[in-house]
Amino acid sequence: MNKAKFHLEFNHDKCKGCELCSTFCPKNLISMTGHINNKGYITAVIEHEDECIGCLSCATMCPDGAIAIFKEDE
Ligand code: SF4
Ligand code: SF4
Repeated sequence: MNKAKFHLEFNHDKCKGCELCSTFCPKNLISMTGHINNKGYITAVIEHEDECIGCLSCATMCPDGAIAIFKEDE
């Protein structure tokens, strides 16, 4: 049986560095990179994407719609 995997894409230009996605990830997979976008905000990034359970909390919490989640089959 194939195990579901998830791929996250962050729109760094939309990100305001509010850290809500990071705060609400139950697996604590999202960190703030230190990368500064063109608006001067430090942006979010996922680490250990292979551990993502696809709960959508991060995308739901993001006030700027900056996170898209795709389901992939292994
Ligand atoms: S979908 Fe859920 S587990 Fe995956 S990064 Fe977002 S909050 Fe974390
Ligand atoms: S919730 Fe959205 S705007 Fe806030 S840090 Fe995460 S990706 Fe950026």
